[in-house]
Amino acid sequence: MALFRKSTRTDEETVQESQDLVDLRAAIEKAELPEPAAATVARELERLEKTDSSSPEYTIGLHYIEHLLALPWHAFTEDNLDLKRAESILEAQHFGLGHVKERILEYLAVRTLCSLRDFHILVVDDEPIARANLEYILRKEGYQVSTAGNGLEALELVKKKDFELILTDLKMEKMDGIQLLESVKQLAPQTDIVMITGYATVSSAVDALKKGAAHYLPKPIDLDELRSTVSQIKEKKQFMQVTRSPILCFSGPPGTGKTSIGRSIAEALERKFVRISLAGVRDEADLRGHRRTYVGAMSGRIINEIKRLGVKNPVFMLDEIDKIGQDFRGDPASVLLEILDPEQNSRFIDHYLDIPFDLSAIMFISTANAVERLPDPLLDRLEIIPFHGYTEREKGSIAGSYLIPRQLREHGLTHSGITFTEGAITKIVRDYTLEAGLRNLEREIATVCRKLARLILQTHRDQALEVDEALTERLLGPPKYRREQAQSGEQLGVTTGLVWSEFGGEIISVEASLMKGSQQLILTGSLGTVLRESAQTALSFIRSHAGELAVEPDFFEGHDVHIHIPAGAVPKDGPSAGITIALALLSLLTGRPARRDVAMTGELTLSGRILPVGGIREKILAAQRSGVRIVVFPEPNRIDIEGIEEELRKGVGVVLARDVASVAEVVLV
Ligand code: ADP
Repeated sequence: MALFRKSTRTDEETVQESQDLVDLRAAIEKAELPEPAAATVARELERLEKTDSSSPEYTIGLHYIEHLLALPWHAFTEDNLDLKRAESILEAQHFGLGHVKERILEYLAVRTLCSLRDFHILVVDDEPIARANLEYILRKEGYQVSTAGNGLEALELVKKKDFELILTDLKMEKMDGIQLLESVKQLAPQTDIVMITGYATVSSAVDALKKGAAHYLPKPIDLDELRSTVSQIKEKKQFMQVTRSPILCFSGPPGTGKTSIGRSIAEALERKFVRISLAGVRDEADLRGHRRTYVGAMSGRIINEIKRLGVKNPVFMLDEIDKIGQDFRGDPASVLLEILDPEQNSRFIDHYLDIPFDLSAIMFISTANAVERLPDPLLDRLEIIPFHGYTEREKGSIAGSYLIPRQLREHGLTHSGITFTEGAITKIVRDYTLEAGLRNLEREIATVCRKLARLILQTHRDQALEVDEALTERLLGPPKYRREQAQSGEQLGVTTGLVWSEFGGEIISVEASLMKGSQQLILTGSLGTVLRESAQTALSFIRSHAGELAVEPDFFEGHDVHIHIPAGAVPKDGPSAGITIALALLSLLTGRPARRDVAMTGELTLSGRILPVGGIREKILAAQRSGVRIVVFPEPNRIDIEGIEEELRKGVGVVLARDVASVAEVVLV
């Protein structure tokens, strides 16, 4: 066998390859990559030229360069900062959510003020003609310009006034550019400095960059380069000012409008919008990419989305950051920290790119269902904006004004004269959905529209059609939920509780039973550790206070107690069911049935005190949805309850209780 194989490439292929490289070189030139991307691409291209085009390395190298070139290194969309317009977009697309809209408008207001702030440049040069020329050019670009004839003069000005940028000659009498740079970095570290150097002093230019200059311009100054350098610094500064504000985190149950408000913000700003879900992301490489040494390596999702959008300043929604995972393949949460930190994200390094890419122009918004799950360092960086569940009335209004018109439009029914009666809307809300948000409501409305579309085509009808309760039931089938469920009389050993989870508030049943056995507490229904402990506490409290509670003191002897919380497939946890468990036991042991239309929530201590709980608003909403008549809350939650609007409490009586005995008075018959 021959030691060297002759190249099997045809001349045609060789010509094609060099054409590839010629095209690539042209594309590179056109892209005007910033450093260090430009240097990296130049190096890769050089390597490519020496590589056989049929080898895998060639393809890998080619892809890498193309990927780099396709990134929006300079592409921005211009923000529309018209506050009135933003306000009307937010209003037109969303009902209520006043606090959210307000915060967003404040954000935009700050942004507007920052961008309108004058950008003041100081030109320092000891040659009067050069100085005057620079001043003239920059003023023509719309900047405010001051001038100084040497370093000392410049320093005096810097002491009196804030400059965004100093353009200084390197070689000057009295105090040269480098000395000025060093002094300014101490006096006014936020001021950027661009050094103007002669050809002969490249090494001092490098020195200047090391000492903190933002850029250098060789003499004679290329005007285009001057303009683009200054405008890039201006843009960067503006974005830094805004991104330094905390990242917004929309938190609340699903379907409460978090994503759609995000979209509206993008629309108001005229920025592009992108959303990625972080639920279940376990691998750091998902976000940050794989190193090029891996076969089939790619950039992570952040860079890929930016590339797809083609701009470096979209509104970027990071959905469900509370569900991000962690395992042996690194910690994606720490990548998230880096992405969201304005100090770090201007130099974000994707493993595949292996050079920094500036993410600081992106407006990040995150969403979470349960912020409690977020790690503290992350929570620190976020400004939590709570989204709440909607009342039945709000749902009705949103359905009538937003969801139904949209679904009719999406099903081609806009001109079919279809209207929904108020009764039909209430019926869909009440009988077909049981949720804090609007997802299922929108889905059910879509189902109605789909069926109507078919009905209209089949029956060739062209007159107006009114969807009333009867037609709704015909289209959607028998009701899925019956509100009367919660009101079904009284039961021995069964109580109604209110819990709160990432899906909003929910009603639960707690069942207790006693049977012959060996003093065991049996717990079933997918209960978490805290909930199990609550059950233990409830049992111990009743055993230790049997006398006061009118319970047989030795009821546990020779018996087992079984506590079950149905809907067993759904994992449950948290301390707030303590009181509900205690009352189920008490009902069973005293033989007094418990009212099912009274729901309770509260953490129980061993001495029988009731401690405050969270999620009050969502719990009241859940009670309202399920037709509960009275809710019992811990007395220390009084302030939270008083802070809730009247409208929300309508139809639900609230009782505040301090101890088990006072709850028993309300619940037990
Ligand atoms: P989330 O992101 O909180 O899960 P979405 O933004 O997907 O919720 O909202 C679900 C649906 O409900 C969307 O169609 C949205 O437009 C609609 N929606 C939610 N809140 C409102 C509101 N306040 N006004 C109008 N529509 C709303």
